[in-house]
This record gives sequence, C-alpha cells and structure tokens, in this order.
Amino acid sequence: MKSHRITHDGFFYSALYLMNRITDFFLSGFEHAPHFEKRKAAYLFYILFTSLACVVLVLLGHLFFGFDKFYILGNLVGLAGVIHAFYLFKQKRIELSGHILACAAISMVILHNIVRDMFVFDPAMRYRIYINMVALFGIYLIVISFFREKKLVFIYGVVFELLILLHSLVIYEKLKNIPVISSYVIQHTITAVTGIAAAGFISTWLLGYMEALFQQNIEDSEKIMQQNETLEKLVEKRTKALKTSNENLQEFAYIVSHDLKEPLRTISGFVTLIRKELDKTDINRNQVDDYVRYVLRGTHQMEDLISDILTYSQLNVAERKSEVVDLNMVVNEVLNNLSFLIRENNASIQLIDLPRVAGDKRLFIQLFQNLLSNAIKYRSEERPLHIQFIVENQGDFVRIGVQDNGIGIPEKYFEAIFQAFKRLHSKVKYEGTGIGLAICKKIVELHGGEIWIESKESEGSVFYFTLPSIVQVI
Ligand code: ADP
Repeated sequence: MKSHRITHDGFFYSALYLMNRITDFFLSGFEHAPHFEKRKAAYLFYILFTSLACVVLVLLGHLFFGFDKFYILGNLVGLAGVIHAFYLFKQKRIELSGHILACAAISMVILHNIVRDMFVFDPAMRYRIYINMVALFGIYLIVISFFREKKLVFIYGVVFELLILLHSLVIYEKLKNIPVISSYVIQHTITAVTGIAAAGFISTWLLGYMEALFQQNIEDSEKIMQQNETLEKLVEKRTKALKTSNENLQEFAYIVSHDLKEPLRTISGFVTLIRKELDKTDINRNQVDDYVRYVLRGTHQMEDLISDILTYSQLNVAERKSEVVDLNMVVNEVLNNLSFLIRENNASIQLIDLPRVAGDKRLFIQLFQNLLSNAIKYRSEERPLHIQFIVENQGDFVRIGVQDNGIGIPEKYFEAIFQAFKRLHSKVKYEGTGIGLAICKKIVELHGGEIWIESKESEGSVFYFTLPSIVQVI
C-alpha cells in the first residue's frame, strides 16, 4: 500500500519536475525582460504547449482510429506549425511565433473541414460543425488575445468568416441533390455567423480586459520601480548622514580629549614646579605667583571649554522656547554684557533698527554675543574697530549681517570655521575654544535659517544669517 503511493508520488513529482525544466528551458531567454514582457512570453508559451499537446493527441487519436488522409495531413501541418512556432519562440521572436501558430491553426481548419468535405461527404456533419465552431472559437480567442492588435484581430476574423462561408458552399454543393439534408447548409451558415459574432464580442471584451491588465501591470511596476528608486536614494542619504555623523562624533571625541588634555598638562606641570619650589628652603614667592597664575589660566581655559561643549551639546536636546523676540532688545543686552570689552577696545558700533523674529531669546543672545565678541577679538591692529549691522527683508526670510573691519579670513576657510573646534590661530595669539561659530550655526539652523561668511583677508568680515520672517512663523 505504502510502496504503491510512493511510486505514484514519484511519477507525479518526476512529471512535475520535467514540466518545470521544460518551462525553464523555454523561458530562460526572458529572464532579464521587463515584468510585462515576461508575462507575455509565459502566456504564449502555455498557448504553444497546449496547442502541441492537442495536435499530438488528436493525431494519435486519428492514427489509432484509422481516419482518412485529410485528417492526418491537417494534423501534421498543425504539428509542423506549432513546432516552428516553438522554434521562433526560443529565438525570442514571439510576435512571429504567434502568427505562425495562428496560420497553423487556420491550415488545420481548412484541411480538416473544407478540403475533406470537398472529397468525402459525411452526413453526420452536424456534430462536426459544432466541434469545429468550438475549435474556431478557441483559435480566435488565442490569436486576438495574444496579439492585441486591432488590425490583426479584424483580418483573422475576416479570414475565418470567409473560411466558414467557403465551407458552407462546399456543403451546399454536396447536399443540393439531397433535399432532406439541405437544412444543414442553413444551420451551418447561421452557426458560423452567430459563432463568429459571439466569439468577436467575447474576445473583444477579453482583449480590452487584458489590455487594461497589462497596462495596470506596467503602471504598477513603474510605480514600484519609482518607489524603489526613492527608497534607495533615501537609504543612501541616511547612510551618508550616519557616516558623517559617526565621523563627526569620532573627530569630536578626539578633539575634546585633546583640547581638554592641553590645559590639564599645563596645570599639572606648574603644580609640580610649585611643589618643587615649596620644597626649597628659600622659596621664591614671585616665581610661585607666576606658576599659580599659569595654573589659574589653565583652569579657566578648561572651564571655558567645558562650558562651550555643554552649550553646544545641550542645543540638540534642551527644550526651546518659541516667542516673539525683539532683536533690538537682544542686541542691547549683549552690548551690556560686552560693555567692558567694547570700552577696552575702543570699538564703535553702529546700531540700526532690527526686526522682531520668533524663537528662543536666550539662544539669540548667545548668537549675537558670539558674533560680536569674535568681531572684537579678531580686530585689526591697524585701524580702530568699527562694527555695523545689516538688515534686509527677503519676503519669507529676513537676512541679518554683522560686519567688522577686522583681520578677515581667507576664502578657503569659509566653511571650516563653522565646524566645532576649528580654529585658525594658536591659543597664544587669540584665546578661544573653537566652538563659538559652531554654536551660532546650530542656533540659526534650529530656527530654520542659514549662516555664512563673506570676508576679505586684512579688510574685514560680514557674518550673515537668515531667520524666518515673523508672519511666516505665526
Ligand atoms: P574661537 O573664536 O573660540 O576660536 P569660533 O568658532 O568663534 O572659535 O571661531 C572659529 C575661527 O573663526 C576663529 O578661530 C577665527 O580664526 C575665525 N573667526 C571667527 N570670527 C572672526 C572674525 N570676526 N574675524 C576674523 N576671524 C574670525
């Protein structure tokens, strides 16, 4: 019992395997074709395969039942046509392959019915007529549903009509001397005409449906391709951003540790010297005072650096207020904070009426303070420092500039200076942490604007930034 089932299954799976191999062999050439073309090819392949099976089966049947030479000939012509169509299909000439299949089918109909009835008259015609109609209906469907060409549909339809007409003439010629049976001619003609009409209607509907289906397929695959493209671009963009942020983080960690170590080294160096000095019997007080001053400078540097790093990293996470802020008030507060520096450096500052914008007042104070203190720090020794503001309304945005007549910056550093820890000078010449402008950039970007510099070395710089106009924000 068990072994019986295994043999059955084995046969079934072998046949399935063989079928799959044959299908793979014929469809392998279309592997890289677009989805739509692949479906079309598979569709024709199954039609060809069914035709081949039908022709072979009918041929075997006819040989077995000993039918006459016209049937055999018709089947052989059909078989040759289907094999030729297969050959063309394998060469990827699928349109031609379909035509040959249609021609083979027409030739079969001619040989099976018309030619045979010319020579051998069979009164059991009624049965054959209906069988032929069904066959014609099938062929008609195959031909038009595959080619989807309106002109060809018409031509094949006309050819079939003419053949049926010819067939009825042949039958009429044969039957006119037998009055009892002459109604077959009428029956035949009526069946032919209604059959073709019905086939025409149904296949036209089928054609339209398939066209819509194919069209839908094309549109779907185009849409999926577009979506894929967008997704790929997004993934690429994100990967790039992640990579950059990872690199930035690594650089950030490296520089933080490097910049923090520097003052620490100074402090520990001078503390050692102080200790040595204290071990001596004749302590040099002046020397110790100097060492203590250096230690204090180191601790201040560390304090500044830690506070700047904190401000910078807090900008990403801290909650921001959004309120209407009068920038004139902001600048007043900053000038107050910097009044000592301004007086000390004898800076003249030309004020103009600044707009009101939406955002976090605390951050705007930080922004203006960084820009103004930089303008003071990087002043030129050759001329008195003069700072002025620029305001321009640009519709959706307002552009603000802080202009100085200081030492300026070479163009190649225009972008680099906005990165954290990027400094163009040594700490000895100009004190600083290198985070000020990075903080400015982050503040402006958090408010939806941009910041950039226009500068000429030894002439001065203008730091421009944009902020959304207040009407837009509210
Ligand atoms: P820091 O001033 O602490 O070095 P910043 O981020 O504020 O750091 O500035 C980065 C660099 O940009 C500075 O080292 C300096 O070389 C340059 N810079 C900034 N503002 C000015 C300015 N107004 N004029 C000339 N150079 C400037």
